[in-house]
Amino acid sequence: NLNATWAKAWIRSSAQVMSEHRVELIDLDREIGDGDHGENMDRGFQAVLHKLDDLPPEAGPGDVFKFVATTLISTVGGAAGPLYGTAFLKGAVAISGTIELDGPALVAFLRAARDGIVLRGKAESGDKTMVDAWTPAVDAAEAALAGGADDRAILSAAADAAEAGALATEPLIARKGRASYLGERAIGHRDPGAQSSALLLRAAAATAT
Ligand code: ADP
Ligand code: MG
Ligand code: MG
Repeated sequence: NLNATWAKAWIRSSAQVMSEHRVELIDLDREIGDGDHGENMDRGFQAVLHKLDDLPPEAGPGDVFKFVATTLISTVGGAAGPLYGTAFLKGAVAISGTIELDGPALVAFLRAARDGIVLRGKAESGDKTMVDAWTPAVDAAEAALAGGADDRAILSAAADAAEAGALATEPLIARKGRASYLGERAIGHRDPGAQSSALLLRAAAATAT
C-alpha cells in the first residue's frame, strides 16, 4: 500500500542507504566531480530523517514528499539539492491529496519527478546525469503499468531500469554538471547522481508492501 506510511518508510530506508553508500558516492564524484555527492546526499537525508516524525499524523504521501523536497533543497546543496528537491516537489504536486497511490498515480509521481529534474537541470538523455537513471525508470514503470503489473512490480521495474541506466552512464561524455568540464576524461566513470538515483528507486521498491 503506497500510502504515507510507505512514503516515510521509503525515506527512512533512503537515509540508511545514502549513509551506507556515502563513501561509494564520494568516490564516484571524486573521479568526475568534486567528491562531495555522498556527503551531500547523506547530510540531506539525515536532516529529513530527523524531522520526519514532526509531520502531522494526517499527512498524506504528497505532504511527506513536499517536506522531503524543502528539506533536501535547504540541506543538500550543490547541483543535486535543487534537482532532487524539484523532483520530490513536482512528484508531490502530481499526487496532491491522494491518500494511497495506485499504479497510475505511482507512474504519474515518477514521471513528474523526472520532469522536475529535466525542468531544473535541462539535461537530455545521454548527458551523463541522473536523468539517465530516471528516464529509463519512468519508461519501465509505464511499460509495467501497461502490462498490468502491481505497485511493487512497477517499482521493481523502475529500480532495475535505473540501475541499468546508471551503469550505462559509464562510457558517456558528460554534457551537464561538473563532469562536463572533463571531456573525454569522464569516459569510464559512472555518474554519481545517476547512481544515487538508482539507490533511491531501489529503496522505494524494497519498502513497497
Ligand atoms: P555538485 O556537482 O554541485 O558538487 P553533487 O556532487 O551533489 O553536486 O551532484 C552531482 C550530480 O548532479 C551529478 O552526478 C549529476 O547526476 C547531477 N547533475 C549535475 N548537473 C545536472 C543537470 N544539469 N541535470 C541533471 N543532473 C545534473
Ligand atoms: Mg559534487
Ligand atoms: Mg559540490
